[in-house]
Amino acid sequence: MSFPERNFRRSRPILPGMTEAHRAIAFDNSYARLPGSMHVGVSPTPVSAPRLIRVNDALARELGIDPALLTAEVAVGNAIPDGASPLAQAYAGHQFGNFVPQLGDGRAILLGEVVDVNGRRRDIQLKGSGRTPFSRGGDGRAALGPVLREYLVSEAMSALGIPTTRALMAATTGERVYREDVLPGAVLTRVASSHIRVGTFQFFAVRQDFEALKLLIDHVIERHYPALQGSENPALALLDAVMEAQGSLVARWAQVGFIHGVMNTDNTSVSGETIDYGPCAFMDAYDPGTVFSSIDTYGRYAYANQAPIAQWNLARLAETLLAFIDKDREAAIRIATERIEGFPAIYTRHWLAGFRKKIGLVSEEGGDLDLVQAMLDAMQMARADFTTTFRMLSTGGEPEALNHWLPQWRERLARDPQTAEERQALMRSVNPVYIPRNHLVEEMISAAVERQDFGPFAEMLRVLMNPYQEQAGAERYAQAPAEPDGAYRTFCGT
Ligand code: AMP
Ligand code: MG
Repeated sequence: MSFPERNFRRSRPILPGMTEAHRAIAFDNSYARLPGSMHVGVSPTPVSAPRLIRVNDALARELGIDPALLTAEVAVGNAIPDGASPLAQAYAGHQFGNFVPQLGDGRAILLGEVVDVNGRRRDIQLKGSGRTPFSRGGDGRAALGPVLREYLVSEAMSALGIPTTRALMAATTGERVYREDVLPGAVLTRVASSHIRVGTFQFFAVRQDFEALKLLIDHVIERHYPALQGSENPALALLDAVMEAQGSLVARWAQVGFIHGVMNTDNTSVSGETIDYGPCAFMDAYDPGTVFSSIDTYGRYAYANQAPIAQWNLARLAETLLAFIDKDREAAIRIATERIEGFPAIYTRHWLAGFRKKIGLVSEEGGDLDLVQAMLDAMQMARADFTTTFRMLSTGGEPEALNHWLPQWRERLARDPQTAEERQALMRSVNPVYIPRNHLVEEMISAAVERQDFGPFAEMLRVLMNPYQEQAGAERYAQAPAEPDGAYRTFCGT
């Protein structure tokens, strides 16, 4: 019999007073147990001078991990916690509509999975930890700016109540990465309910590896949709479930003005979490045509295109499932097409439920969608700030942009059962004061990259942890930028 103790390979003394349970990360790596065609074992490449920027203590505890174990060495992959089985996942994907049969984790390494204190299985992944067999020409590294952006925005999304990957740690490597500029390198430790994407299914479908596909379907159902186990048609049930999760997610994005920026099928999680914060940004002035990403020349991933693109991505998922939906290919295509055509209704249901709350309604009437649309049209005309307009409405204010709309709204409110206090409490719980404003995110990144000043990062993160609560002294984080953000550009150079 072997001893149950698990220590880091690069051993560090167990701190006095720490209990047995605190000594190790209780990895349970279900993806590593899947066949070798689905992943490649690979270790992080050590770096010279790791320094911690941040450990997310609350998330560590949620994962059942003692934050004291989360050192700089662990954060960059110089030390591999015992029980980890580092690997790069294989996946394919449509990037801006073009199919790439092999992408895979080119600069990310999955350390393993833990079952958190709520019984949920979570991936722990290092992003920026060096090359893998999927790196192609890339260096496998990440620059400090994008790491801070992903940390801040993913945690802000989580605090807003939107399904998302999380940030457990960020650390600098002490090494340089070469992009358009020479930049400090960093690693982000990302936590996700899984990193399985539409592109993961595509990887096996294009290779006609039906054995792997079947295992993947079963794995995803067991992991994300356990209620579907034993379904008569598991593949179809899975498609329905992912459509529901994505419909809900993308509607939640719309309700906070979030633009993902690179909704490729490899960045579309089957669990329905927001994943891969690259050129993402929040809209300031309301304009459905808003695009931020410098490489999104044709506005494929513009604000108003996110739902149609989600549908397109789900159609790509459906294609991978055809052989399992029905043995008769024609029948399978007919069934899948019908399902995919149902996506606008799913999305609209989530969208309307969310926007009803944003304008303070608990009752439902047939004209509500038009009422919300009329409000958005008025905001667009006036180039009104999306976040502050909804918040002002939640606190009894009367945004000037809505002058002509307010009478319709009041008329509708008169038929809603809530008191004014109840309504405002509801509205304040869904209309944030604070979102990661683009100009402040840039300011925060500049301070860190140019002056090694992580103060703005810490301060902004603190404010964004309570997005629905006015905070004294945090006024500048609530303000729309003086200049409209029409010219703001984000870059994929992550
Ligand atoms: P992303 O744009 O982050 O979704 O990444 C798209 C693909 O490019 C994925 O397969 C990544 O692993 C890969 N990739 C992006 N940046 C790098 C890099 N610096 N080194 C290696 N692979 C990369
Ligand atoms: Mg990606």
